[in-house]
Amino acid sequence: DGVVYTELRRPCRTMILVNPHSGRGQALQLFTGHIQAMLTEASVSYTLVITEHQNHARELVRNADLSQWDALVIMSGDGLLFEVINGLMEREDWQQAIQTPLGILPGGSGNALAASIHNYSQLPPAWNEELLLSCGFMLCKGLVGSLDLVSVHLASRQRLFSFLSLAWGFVADVDIESEKYRHVGAIRFLMGTLVRLASLRVYQGRLAYLPAKEAPKPSKKNVKATHPTSTSRCSSFPCHLIPNVSPKKSSLTNCIGMNINQNSITNSSNVITNMSPQTQSNNMTTSLVDSLLPSLDQQVPENWTVVNEEDFVLVLAIYQSHLAEDLWTVPGAMADDGLIHLFYVTAGISRPALLRLFLAMEKGSHLACSCPHLVYEKVRALRLEPISQQGMITVDGEVVEYGPIQAQVHPGMAKLICG
Ligand code: ADP
Ligand code: MG
Repeated sequence: DGVVYTELRRPCRTMILVNPHSGRGQALQLFTGHIQAMLTEASVSYTLVITEHQNHARELVRNADLSQWDALVIMSGDGLLFEVINGLMEREDWQQAIQTPLGILPGGSGNALAASIHNYSQLPPAWNEELLLSCGFMLCKGLVGSLDLVSVHLASRQRLFSFLSLAWGFVADVDIESEKYRHVGAIRFLMGTLVRLASLRVYQGRLAYLPAKEAPKPSKKNVKATHPTSTSRCSSFPCHLIPNVSPKKSSLTNCIGMNINQNSITNSSNVITNMSPQTQSNNMTTSLVDSLLPSLDQQVPENWTVVNEEDFVLVLAIYQSHLAEDLWTVPGAMADDGLIHLFYVTAGISRPALLRLFLAMEKGSHLACSCPHLVYEKVRALRLEPISQQGMITVDGEVVEYGPIQAQVHPGMAKLICG
């Protein structure tokens, strides 16, 4: 199906990181009960590391001797993989480090990536132990594909790497509020959804994005950033051309070219090399450049689309097929499709209509509901500027600082055990 895989070497040396508190607190028992024997039989040797606190995995991976490991695998929810990816990207040798094959065994309550890789291998849906066995089997097979990462910038200039989602409003609130029901497992999201529906609220903010395919004409719903007669209410939102960003530089062809290079050429055009006088001779520090993003205090480029609406129930950028084991949010998504799938729901949607959307999402049929409040766009970059004083933003299900946030996709940056 066009997906290119490599294979893990045999025998394969794996570090398996387990968060003993994830999900119902049974990750370790699930590992010994269902996975251990399977790995032994497949000659996958492993070292089990039980995390002791939040960011333990992140610190470990940041300092690990990666030449010792053929794969880093997490047995937890998506939160632990978020730690591992950010730990890898914080290293000086991030360009090599992020090539380490990553694996996931669902042991949490939010197992979105596990459900997604199961889905990518075109198997019928699976939950709980069945999903765990499927992911364990993939680890034994040892096929490695590519995984898109999304670079996220926060107002405090902090930068994060995300493999799953960026959420604001309803979805972020449900994710965080439902953590107190973690002991019930994946059904916590349905419970959280019902509770949040009862206190449904509207969130004010400004949203803009770079469409994956530049639309030839402004649509009715969205007005192109430079439209002179824009009826957009967000007049204070930066929306003209930045003089020093030429439209050619950020054109689609250019970014596709860049992305192809990125995988094959070590020091590709979107990698900056900073050489400080002290380190010039032997040590070069490099950082990944987000060529699609102006700085947060600058206006968005003219080829971006600025959303007219400012009243939202939710904004969700997702780059995998599943948001949770039973939320099939993007039926067409692939781990390395190079896309951010941007959904937003505008204010005015009724409670029953919103509930219908989430129930339909179990079968991936929410887009067929033809709900006029639901908008879906494929994008490469986006910016969100909340106006509402209070709210929650999550990245990969983890709360981040509330405020302006922007992101761009880097196709195929990481390696993922799947297929
Ligand atoms: P779940 O799907 O159940 O939420 P996650 O893997 O997302 O499971 O983990 C939940 C949170 O716990 C994440 O923020 C993660 O960073 C954090 N974490 C990881 N290891 C530990 C630990 N040993 N103790 C407490 N928190 C941890
Ligand atoms: Mg989580």
